[in-house]
Amino acid sequence: MVGQGTETGLTQNAEPEPRSLSLGGHVGFDSLPDQLVSKSVTQGFSFNILCVGETGIGKSTLMNTLFNTTFETEEASHHEECVRLRPQTYDLQESNVHLKLTIVDAVGFGDQINKDESYRPIVDYIDAQFENYLQEELKIRRSLFEYHDTRVHVCLYFITPTGHSLKSLDLVTMKKLDSKVNIIPIIAKADTISKSELHKFKIKIMGELVSNGVQIYQFPTDDEAVAEINAVMNAHLPFAVVGSTEEVKVGNKLVRARQYPWGVVQVENENHCDFVKLREMLIRVNMEDLREQTHSRHYELYRRCKLEEMGFQDSDGDSQPFSLQETYEAKRKEFLSELQRKEEEMRQMFVNKVKETELELKEKERELHEKFEHLKRVHQEEKRKVEEKRRELEEETSAFNRRKAAVEALQSQALHATSQQPLRKDKDKKKSDIGVHQSGMSLSNSKVMMTKASVEPLNCSSWWPAIQCCSCLVRDATWREGFL
Ligand code: GDP
Repeated sequence: MVGQGTETGLTQNAEPEPRSLSLGGHVGFDSLPDQLVSKSVTQGFSFNILCVGETGIGKSTLMNTLFNTTFETEEASHHEECVRLRPQTYDLQESNVHLKLTIVDAVGFGDQINKDESYRPIVDYIDAQFENYLQEELKIRRSLFEYHDTRVHVCLYFITPTGHSLKSLDLVTMKKLDSKVNIIPIIAKADTISKSELHKFKIKIMGELVSNGVQIYQFPTDDEAVAEINAVMNAHLPFAVVGSTEEVKVGNKLVRARQYPWGVVQVENENHCDFVKLREMLIRVNMEDLREQTHSRHYELYRRCKLEEMGFQDSDGDSQPFSLQETYEAKRKEFLSELQRKEEEMRQMFVNKVKETELELKEKERELHEKFEHLKRVHQEEKRKVEEKRRELEEETSAFNRRKAAVEALQSQALHATSQQPLRKDKDKKKSDIGVHQSGMSLSNSKVMMTKASVEPLNCSSWWPAIQCCSCLVRDATWREGFL
């Protein structure tokens, strides 16, 4: 008991160091760890695994093999338009421990022709889970105890067993994810690569990860109980695994294995692959550390960036300690002044717009006025021309009427003259009268000519038929006289 007080962390605000005392007898707080265990068991645990790797690399098979069960997963096609995250949660129980396990599959990863943005849906999904947790934390009435924590605790990154090197897609994706999630790289389908090739491949992969600055999860070596095993396992990364849910009889035992014409690859045989190492490290030894790292490292980073983005800041050493109230007030003022500024900007914009529209309208009005004036002038001009034409017509009409009266007078004179002639009945005379008639014609014609002469100055063809008509009347009268 002595000396443990200094480790409680109570000295933070320069308070006096707590004194160490020894107890006279058993008090009972040594049961605290048991209380914690009991509480945790009652509460249950959640663990979330993200599987990233090309379609058909063996992700579902490995999950089934790891948890020794069959998770119902639909087979993914190779024709997804983009990467899609498919989380599925299962309730598992081992002894009296309940585990809410979420397996998130990055469906369609590596299937697109353009893989530039393949990592983005994965990053977005991880951030969305952090955001959900942060929102729950920021609530006035929080219920973190019952909250289903969906933050991703580990990302199993499945590497294709090419034996060459990492693909650029692998490097880019891991680089984007390493500050957000614990990455454990694994070489999938390790039974398809020879032992010596596998050894070289592992060295190559680790070299590439280091040279590209990709941070993968390191099993913790600060806890004495697991330091040794974790240090050894760190040297085995990336694990080369084989997955299978088939059971094959080896000796007198049924084991999970993959059977080939030339032999059997046993999943749990450490000489065949690193499946056991992975299971040990992931589930049996470091599951809690993965959860803890997620909360204290990755989520903390997300939360800090988010709060800084919102304007919250820890005070530096000399100034006052951070006050949520003050920060809130400052932020509120800042927000209000920003709002006012925006309002003023919008008002100004509105005024400018109105002015512009007003100018445009004025211009349009001026153009319309000019058009109206022009039309008015044209109208007056045409009116004047029509007036002139009307006057001319009136003059012509009165001239016509005068001439018409003259013609009518001539006509009546001609009629009167013929009615005064004595009637001749001699037929011979008639013949000679034809000649006379002809000369009469010429007489009448001479009269007509005279009429014509008086009409001609009118210079209007429409009067002529009337005059001709008059001459006909004269002629007819002569004929009538001849017959009589
Ligand atoms: P997923 O699309 O990544 O989930 O891949 P699946 O788990 O559906 O596996 C696709 C195919 O690979 C299946 O036919 C599996 O039997 C096979 N497979 C899975 N794991 C291994 C393995 O470790 N080695 C070999 N050779 N084949 C495997």
